[in-house]
Amino acid sequence: MERDALIYEADVLVIGGGLAGTWAAVAAARAGATVILAEKGYCGTSGVTASAGPGHWWVPPGKRAEAVAARNARAFGLADTSWMARIVETTWESIPRLAGYYRFSLDDGGAPRHRALRGPEYMRAMRRYAEDSGVAILDQSPALELLRHADGSVAGAAGYARQRRRPWQVRAAAVVLASGGCAFASHLLGSRTNTGDGLLMAAEAGARLSGMEFTSYYTVAPAWSSMTRSMSFAFARYFDAAGRELPIPPGQDATRTLARALLDGPVFATLERMPAEIRAVLSRISPNFLLAFDRAGVDPFTQRFEIALRGEGTVRGIGGLRIADRACQTDVPGLFAAGDAATRELIAGATSGGGAQNSSWALSSGQWAGEGAAQRARMLGRRANRRVERIGGAGLRSGAARAASEQETAALIDLIRDENLAYDKNLFRSEEKLTRSLAKLDGAWSEIRSRSAPSGAASLRLREIAAMLAASRWSGRAALARGESRGMHQRTDRPATEPALAHRLIASGLDRVEIAADVAPQTKVA
Ligand SMILES: Cc1cc2nc3c(=O)[nH]c(=O)nc-3n(C[C@H](O)[C@H](O)[C@H](O)COP(=O)(O)OP(=O)(O)OC[C@H]3O[C@@H](n4cnc5c(N)ncnc54)[C@H](O)[C@@H]3O)c2cc1C
Repeated sequence: MERDALIYEADVLVIGGGLAGTWAAVAAARAGATVILAEKGYCGTSGVTASAGPGHWWVPPGKRAEAVAARNARAFGLADTSWMARIVETTWESIPRLAGYYRFSLDDGGAPRHRALRGPEYMRAMRRYAEDSGVAILDQSPALELLRHADGSVAGAAGYARQRRRPWQVRAAAVVLASGGCAFASHLLGSRTNTGDGLLMAAEAGARLSGMEFTSYYTVAPAWSSMTRSMSFAFARYFDAAGRELPIPPGQDATRTLARALLDGPVFATLERMPAEIRAVLSRISPNFLLAFDRAGVDPFTQRFEIALRGEGTVRGIGGLRIADRACQTDVPGLFAAGDAATRELIAGATSGGGAQNSSWALSSGQWAGEGAAQRARMLGRRANRRVERIGGAGLRSGAARAASEQETAALIDLIRDENLAYDKNLFRSEEKLTRSLAKLDGAWSEIRSRSAPSGAASLRLREIAAMLAASRWSGRAALARGESRGMHQRTDRPATEPALAHRLIASGLDRVEIAADVAPQTKVA
């Protein structure tokens, strides 16, 4: 341990202060635990919800069975209706509890609207809710690695407090990983801190992942901006450089059609079809959307503007840490996962849970993980005096070669972007392309393992790169193992959906990645 490290103790440590982490921290504190929440950025403005307008899966009791069945029919055989029903119920019970913190808009009859909330205000409200529940928040304090007891259970985490320029350690009986998904350094709105750190930390402790092959979700944005607000683009018309309108089919195929056109040249859009009544309220319901156009001097309702597709990695993809029990514990004792850090196959199957399921999953899994972590802490009592070891590897304490230069670091980020986000590689997958990508990614992983680790703040970026590389290799190997097309995972060399592959794929390991069929899922909750 560094001599000047800040040392804290708590029953529960929550890593990540986005939607899932704040709900987890509140639930753990209300269950009687002392809770520390460590956030890489600022809890209340970080994470992908803070800049979005999250809709939830908000279904009244009488209509739930029907809603779950309809969504399950679009899950390509990988979801679990018992978990779907559970998040619908938890969402219904939880959102009204925010009444003291969040000003719900009202419908024409004066009743509060609970389904869609305004992201910035929602996250500000969650911060206040957590503080009032007694949660101690460490802002600008990324976690870098987990601490472990000799019996393999998780004992807390270590990180770096940017503003105090000092390392920190939190000893805790249980840890909730709520560090979000991995956006592979894409320019997705609000995803700057979503580099998959929690996935790497958990895998170092022995946790396994599930659904990592489902990373092909993209959203449209103006070419010069990260403004991926999909509601407005539902009204878009698209044109190629010659001004010919592109016929856009509904659903997943819309993305692939646009990607094909983008591989041929620039694509332009206009929002002239947006109905007048929506235009009139757009600046209120989605204030930041129009800002990107105002700044560029473009009127999207009358002028054509160039677009790009922004890859979302595992954010509105599916994969994440495998859930082993109903409290959202991972395969590692004492380590819980919530929100986008966890797999969303249980509630979304092979198609994105964005738009309703993911927010409901984040708030529900957050609370279950928080309660589960508090319960574990109650059972175990404090273990702070027992010996713990720090278990971080890649990017933190690697080999003997010199540290990576700035150019080398930038080249690694370009490689991660290219191998994970390029339309031709990720939306039109094949064994040949995946094998070629994996050779490059494996090479980069070996390189990062051989580098000596910088200290202090300089270690943060290298650790993020290591996490993105690890996520890339789980994603690529799982995509190779899934020798079929299913949901968002589409292979040009295996276009059919194979009934024999209607099971989840588990990824594990770091230097050597293994993929196995999840033949004995322990996750049924009915
Ligand atoms: C533009 C957009 C719109 C969306 N709209 C919807 C919608 O309408 N409905 C819906 O269901 N879903 C929607 N989603 C998905 C939904 O927002 C996410 O599922 C949800 O925000 C997940 O919450 P989370 O807490 O797991 O992750 P995040 O909100 O991303 O929070 C993760 C937090 O962890 C922090 N963190 C990361 N690494 C570390 C570290 N090493 N140490 C400490 N902290 C760390 C990050 O800074 C961040 O604050 C949308 C996503 C996007 C990108």
